[in-house]
Amino acid sequence: MPNNQTPSSIKISPSDLTYLYHSCKRCFYLKYKYKISQPGFSGGINSTLDSLFKNYFNHKSISTFIKNTTQQGIIIETGRTISSKTISHPGKMDCYLEGKYDALIEFDDQTYGVVDFKASKYSQGKEETYKRQLQAYQYAFLHPQNGQQRQISKIGLLFLYPNNLQDSQNSLSMSLTQHWIEILYDENDFLTFIHEVQDLLSSPKTPPPTKDCPYCKFVSETSNL
Ligand code: SF4
Repeated sequence: MPNNQTPSSIKISPSDLTYLYHSCKRCFYLKYKYKISQPGFSGGINSTLDSLFKNYFNHKSISTFIKNTTQQGIIIETGRTISSKTISHPGKMDCYLEGKYDALIEFDDQTYGVVDFKASKYSQGKEETYKRQLQAYQYAFLHPQNGQQRQISKIGLLFLYPNNLQDSQNSLSMSLTQHWIEILYDENDFLTFIHEVQDLLSSPKTPPPTKDCPYCKFVSETSNL
């Protein structure tokens, strides 16, 4: 039986505010309200790439991946968890944000930056899909549940995608194209978005399936067999 009890404050993962929330409100709702997640494949090459990116970029200067910037900074840590204070929205469910950011930059001016690595090819507009994840990290650093507040002066996505294979003694080496894209942060706009998420999760009504979703289509076509 699904757990349909409503907790007083719900933990939201910043990464779910991107693809999951945008692609299907029903899937998002089922995951957070009933703890039912769409089955998927985890691990594999994506988690290997993720570890490689974090190991490679840790302690590197930002000039490795951000061109045309006057700021100087170094990635000081990767893969740490950050949690925000509770976000209230009168009459709706409280929530807080908690997730593992990919990399934290420390700039020379004592401000910080957050980077998210994407093992995919950049195409125009992709930042719209992913911006809420980065904004959620920025919000959590500015309003931490515990510890010191950090001033965040830059957040962005680093897209890394294979473009060539070469012989390298007894193995092959792969080169990657990299594309850095900065995300803007407006706290009022972000909180308006989070309140929209809280409205959804506070509703007693499960949203309808997304049109043409192959998973839901499979379930509805096979449920009466
Ligand atoms: S439509 Fe697809 S994405 Fe949405 S709830 Fe169904 S399975 Fe999940």
